[in-house]
Amino acid sequence: MLNEKAITKVAVVIPVYNEEESLPELIRRTKEACLLLERDHDIILVDDGSRDRSSEIIQEAASLPDSHIVGVMLNRNYGQHAAIMAGFEIADADLVITLDADLQNPPEEIPRLVAKADEGFDVIGTVRKHRKDSVFRRLPSAIINGGVRRATGVQMNDYGCMLRAYRRHIIDAMLQCHERSTFIPILANSFARNTTEIDVDHAEREFGDSKYSPMKLINLMFDLITCMTTTPLRLLSIVGSVVAATGFLFAFVLLMLRLLFGPEWSGDGLFTLFAVLFIFVGAQFIGMGLLGEYIGRMYQDVRARPRYFVQKVVRKGQTSSPLFKEKS
Ligand code: UDP
Ligand code: MG
Repeated sequence: MLNEKAITKVAVVIPVYNEEESLPELIRRTKEACLLLERDHDIILVDDGSRDRSSEIIQEAASLPDSHIVGVMLNRNYGQHAAIMAGFEIADADLVITLDADLQNPPEEIPRLVAKADEGFDVIGTVRKHRKDSVFRRLPSAIINGGVRRATGVQMNDYGCMLRAYRRHIIDAMLQCHERSTFIPILANSFARNTTEIDVDHAEREFGDSKYSPMKLINLMFDLITCMTTTPLRLLSIVGSVVAATGFLFAFVLLMLRLLFGPEWSGDGLFTLFAVLFIFVGAQFIGMGLLGEYIGRMYQDVRARPRYFVQKVVRKGQTSSPLFKEKS
């Protein structure tokens, strides 16, 4: 069931953290791309507590008369995904597009994303055609993309690229998720029915360096994993069962050897000790895994994500869509 609701307004949400060099060009190119849409639009620039002139540049651009730019200033640095959420909170459009401020995602692709959304898709992802990042960024990203595909069941090839478009009801669903650590592309896909992907260009970072330190990247990776699954906790039980089973097997083999070939095969009781150790270590892991199962369920409850979203109610021939609220 494709979404036939017309898109009359588009918002572009861009998180900005110390990007003073690229901002003027970003604003110019995004404005031009948005004009091609020939519909109402907002360009929402979220300043994520920058320490350079980014905040002033955004405020200047936003204070011009009939400017489509909306500046959102956060009081300190909360991270890219929190900044994007802040932008979502402000956006009142039917379609919201996210974009990086460093011009690695060309703003010229915006009209193509909107055209795809017009066809009725809920989420439009992008695949970076000629990705301009080092092997050290591409390899982990390939592993993660594979894992995400398995865990979410949504066939998307590239979760790292932030140039994406989301329909209004997906944004509303995401705003109702109150967990602190999120990874937006995955969160969105857990609420989407019709998703698609298009190829986009990817440019080299022209100004400055990546705003992700190795520590921040590790943090982002854990955000990404915990946002979609509690499977790692379950792995503890599985590992424990395997270790304990090996222990039992080992003990059995030792017993057999001892009975068949005599006392020299018992290794003065040392091997038996190992077998017992294996069984206990395995039991401990199983115990931890059980705790993990409870913690995992608590985690789901603490996040208090909505259980479901009703898309449409049909009653006596009348259809209402609680998800697609009319703007008042
Ligand atoms: N960013 C942000 N807050 C941060 C880190 C990054 O708002 O704490 C923004 C940054 O300004 C850029 C986007 O997130 O618009 C992606 O960051 P970056 O290009 O450094 O990431 P990479 O391309 O290296 O993954
Ligand atoms: Mg970048």
